[in-house]
Amino acid sequence: AVAIHSVSKRYGHQQVLDAVSLTVPPGSVTVIIGPSGSGKSTLLRSINHLERVDSGFIAIDGELIGYRQQGNSLHELKEKDILQRRVEVGMVFQHFNLFPHLTVLQNLIEAPIALRGLSRAEAEAQARLLLKRVGLADKADAWPRQLSGGQQQRVAIARALALRPKVLLFDEPTSALDPELVQEVLDVIKELARSGTTLLIVTHEIGFAREVADTVVFMEQGRIVESGSPEQVLRQPQQQRTREFLARVL
Ligand code: ATP
Ligand code: MG
Repeated sequence: AVAIHSVSKRYGHQQVLDAVSLTVPPGSVTVIIGPSGSGKSTLLRSINHLERVDSGFIAIDGELIGYRQQGNSLHELKEKDILQRRVEVGMVFQHFNLFPHLTVLQNLIEAPIALRGLSRAEAEAQARLLLKRVGLADKADAWPRQLSGGQQQRVAIARALALRPKVLLFDEPTSALDPELVQEVLDVIKELARSGTTLLIVTHEIGFAREVADTVVFMEQGRIVESGSPEQVLRQPQQQRTREFLARVL
């Protein structure tokens, strides 16, 4: 499980995360929605310790992210140990960030060899299985620039899975895509959800949230305003601010 305990962060005077607490149980799907600037990306980045939080803490399967506990205080880990632990958390961004100078297959095997200790043969066998899973078995030797945006994003998902993370974070995985390419990426994420991968997804695709989410979280101004089942939050929101947001995006 991902456990976020009362995490706060500010940039200057702006409170970007304000005592956010959230648990993502293993094998479940949590979708975060909310207006621009509400802190969604900052929260995801904190889970990877790409952002340092000011207070509170985050743990994955009971292990603190970015810190170790000593008595009552937390000490930030060394860079090397942070990187080691980051392997537990897969992240897929809006822009696919594939390595342009590596083929699709190479994109999928480098990190597992370097960080998970897989042999080249093991990494390659795994990569081919993952490419099959995202519907791109025939693209192993292609270069990223030869692929459509949707295909690149599916490779990025396969690459994240190749490190066998405990949780996969998605930050608006389809918002940089042409409309006709959105569905193929959502379908891959749906398949992951069905197969029991633990997922935390920021998206503006409300219909998709309704379909895949176990829990929908509405954030505004650094706070969780409301969370619950898709039925509760998307169909019968309790908070006026949630209703206003949904009225704007639906
Ligand atoms: P969007 O839907 O537009 O992606 P978001 O909910 O992901 O928005 P964040 O990117 O988490 O929002 O940003 C939350 C707030 O923090 C914003 O007001 C943003 O301007 C501010 N912010 C984010 N990163 C920084 C930074 N490095 N320095 C200063 N302010 C920042
Ligand atoms: Mg964002």
